[in-house]
Amino acid sequence: MASLSMQYTVGNQMIEAIRAHRDPGKHAARERAIALLHQVGIPRPETRIDAYPFQLSGGLRQRVGIALALAAEPDVLIADEPTTALDVTTQAQILALLRRLQRDKHIALMLITHDMGVIAQMADDVAVMYLGRIIEFAPVRELFRSPRHPYTRALLRSVPDLDAKPRQRLATIGGAVPQPGSRPPIGCPFHPRCPEVMPGRCDVTIPAPVSPGVAGASCFLVEDLVA
Ligand code: SF4
Repeated sequence: MASLSMQYTVGNQMIEAIRAHRDPGKHAARERAIALLHQVGIPRPETRIDAYPFQLSGGLRQRVGIALALAAEPDVLIADEPTTALDVTTQAQILALLRRLQRDKHIALMLITHDMGVIAQMADDVAVMYLGRIIEFAPVRELFRSPRHPYTRALLRSVPDLDAKPRQRLATIGGAVPQPGSRPPIGCPFHPRCPEVMPGRCDVTIPAPVSPGVAGASCFLVEDLVA
């Protein structure tokens, strides 16, 4: 939502994006903008195109953002927290829209999210990141069924459970994510918070990185298991 300027109409912003990539002329760009708004499910796109973003609901603004991203006919769509700040109904609609666009337009979709429910619902493959590094990669079912990395396991434990007993405390991960300037200088980046840390090993040596596309985890416990 923050990507939209409140001082320009939806049409201004979309026509600019379309013409920046393939300039078909102003009139055709407007027609294409209306078609894109229609594709992302905005009702009455021929009038909504002249609205300012602040006149639209959060869900409609999110759809405009997606239409803007489609303006350049991408092969890959990167959606960074696409459903944050949306109510659950709108969230489900936006996720369904992304899935439909992915299928109909044959585009790859990269979702960046901390919402485990969204991951379970949407992803084929998952790359779990910690401090800017991929620490585990796995197909989604495998990741939820048998997470390898202690951080992934801790993340999954911290998801609220509807069957939890009353007053049962939610599991948390000890410590806090360090500031970018104060990452652990040596050893596994997760070692100051890891419940399974091996002193003398994890705090001095960095485990082998994960290759995206190959299921695995960057952790000595996993390395030992494989060995
Ligand atoms: S390498 Fe050590 S500190 Fe890092 S996640 Fe594995 S067990 Fe924990």
